[in-house]
Amino acid sequence: MIKKFLFAVVLLSCLVAAQTASDTPPQGAPVSARAQKIHDSAIVVDTHADTPQRFLDEGFDIGSTDPKDVGHISLDKAKRGNLGAEFFSIWVEPDSNQGHFAQHTFDLIDSVYEQAARHPDRMMMAFSVADIERAHREHKLAALMGIEGGHSIENDIHLLRDYYRLGVRYMTLSWSNTNEWADSSGDIDDPKVQHHNGLTDFGKQVVLEMNRMGMMVDISHVADKTFWDAIATTKAPVIASHSSARALVDAPRNMTDDMLRGVAKNGGVVQVNFFNGFDDENFRKAADAQKKDQNAVMKEFVEKKKAEGQPVTFVELDGIEREWMAKIPRPPLKVLIDHIDHIAKVAGVDHVGLGSDFDGVSGATPQGIDSAADLPKITQALLDRGYSAEDIKKILGGNLLRVFAQVEKVSHEMQASQ
Ligand SMILES: [Zn+2]
Repeated sequence: MIKKFLFAVVLLSCLVAAQTASDTPPQGAPVSARAQKIHDSAIVVDTHADTPQRFLDEGFDIGSTDPKDVGHISLDKAKRGNLGAEFFSIWVEPDSNQGHFAQHTFDLIDSVYEQAARHPDRMMMAFSVADIERAHREHKLAALMGIEGGHSIENDIHLLRDYYRLGVRYMTLSWSNTNEWADSSGDIDDPKVQHHNGLTDFGKQVVLEMNRMGMMVDISHVADKTFWDAIATTKAPVIASHSSARALVDAPRNMTDDMLRGVAKNGGVVQVNFFNGFDDENFRKAADAQKKDQNAVMKEFVEKKKAEGQPVTFVELDGIEREWMAKIPRPPLKVLIDHIDHIAKVAGVDHVGLGSDFDGVSGATPQGIDSAADLPKITQALLDRGYSAEDIKKILGGNLLRVFAQVEKVSHEMQASQ
């Protein structure tokens, strides 16, 4: 969602922005020895980081230890936060990549492999639950990949299978754009967009082929009807790789309580998004209120670059986006914990996890969560709310691993009965 702004945003008074950012209040209680111990004993899994945009467009090296780098993910930050597995998002911006979605998908996949090849002592490509467990034993970051947006398959089931063979282990059926077989929550009210009332027959085939191969079906970003069609079609549990609760924040991309119960019944898991615009109603309203001005400035920037014959990079747009996000006060960590807590109450503690959206939200995360190094603060906050060590470990990654294992099992069964 936030990335959509990138193609609509602006420059601004950086002074105001910088001042607001540095004025954020203290970050809450430090992490106790007990919380740290629980955190360090877990396999921590995050299901959504947009870092591949940085690898590809910026030449960012995940081994970077630059203290000035504002990115959420590096090997160093992952180590400090005991992050065991990251699903790197393979996200193809649909407007600027029109006509070559697959090529850009391949380039992003390549960028993740290149990082793993550069740091074999600290990072490894992972394709299964067993791989994640092995990486954990070897003290390496397990790097997995999820495609964000079904448009990447270019309506071609063969291409979907090729992505699986390259290691992609989940696919978000749609991003903020409705594609030719799945409606998105991002444009569901736009009358100019051709909608399908959820998933088309081909869309249902895609879901079943993902089940057969062992690729997790991700329902983040999809329209509500697409969600229910996916639930009715799938033979394996689904994931929401980075979604929060609509009962708390009225963003169309957040999940209603009925949807949360639907995921529980399906045996899946909802991985809570850390973006303030999805977790804090005041932030969402403030972001909406400034959207028009933001869009106007962004448009001006893009047109200026175009007139100069220059390409517009992700880094430039993200920089502008950051200035706008920094104008709105960051909420306390409590708002993120509220979403975890709500989903644990409505769907059950077996159906909630972490899907940060790191490096995809232009710095707009709650106070105290500045990178993967801050993940232990979430464990502390859950402990403070009375969660047991066992339940905390489920939230940190156990639930996702259970779902992934079930998806692998269903795949084996479907292939055996062919
Ligand atoms: Zn997203």
